[in-house]
Amino acid sequence: MKKKIALVTGANKGIGKKISIELANSKIYVIGTATTEIGVNIIKKTLQNKGIGILIDFTKIYITKKIIKKLIKKYKNIDIFVHNAGIINDNLLITMPDIKWNNVIDVNLSSIFHITKIIIPTMIKKKYGRIIVISSVIGCTGQKGQTNYAASKSGLIGFSKSLALEVASLGITVNLVSPGYIITDMTKKILSSKKKEIIKKIPMKRYGTPQDIAYVVSFLSSEKSSYITGQNIHVNGGMYVDLAT
Ligand code: NAP
Repeated sequence: MKKKIALVTGANKGIGKKISIELANSKIYVIGTATTEIGVNIIKKTLQNKGIGILIDFTKIYITKKIIKKLIKKYKNIDIFVHNAGIINDNLLITMPDIKWNNVIDVNLSSIFHITKIIIPTMIKKKYGRIIVISSVIGCTGQKGQTNYAASKSGLIGFSKSLALEVASLGITVNLVSPGYIITDMTKKILSSKKKEIIKKIPMKRYGTPQDIAYVVSFLSSEKSSYITGQNIHVNGGMYVDLAT
């Protein structure tokens, strides 16, 4: 049987790296993205013959679209799309420069619109697709200094739920995973400097790991989740219990 193909954005480190390994171990061919050649080489080394690394920077949308179109031409279709890449660029709103707002919205949110538009026709044709979007607990709770990040992450929730409804009858599921505090390069500074304060807010009394997220993404990528769509799965050690999910 032909291997399924997954596109995982931000696959060179942190959560995206673990997701890529988890999918590759489930016999899925992984195309992982990074913004630097060093990152691409890390992906190649990590995946070996189970996938490839490609260079994409979401701040360059014209080139991003070109690369995704090329991928589709080469592989014919993407079965699983994991939108994981994301950044923070914190500032209180009152002094937030336009560039910080635009940068976070472009990388975290607008990118999914552009990429999905190119990928989804092939999923529709095949009547199969899994789209998994990495949002954040902050998209539901908000956070001081993160109007840009929170807006991008709640934007992803609205985007994914709407798209889930649009393609539900076409064999395509669209779900989100919203991590709480996970130790990665993005968070390690704040998580070590404010450990006592943050751990107090987590009922399980520990930070999450990229692996905690990867397991859920793997499930949502599989046949086992075929009747789940439009859902936002919180993975946060009980820190935020969303009664409305
Ligand atoms: P990370 O270690 O900083 O990794 C971020 C990834 O995004 C990297 O692979 C990075 O590639 C990629 N990326 C950054 N800028 C990009 C751009 N302009 N274009 C394309 N890709 C870009 O962060 P992480 O903690 O693993 O985060 C992964 C996802 O989980 C993010 O969406 C984040 O918002 C979300 N999340 C994380 C936490 C947490 O506690 N860590 C909590 C909630 C949600 P390069 O290295 O090549 O720049």
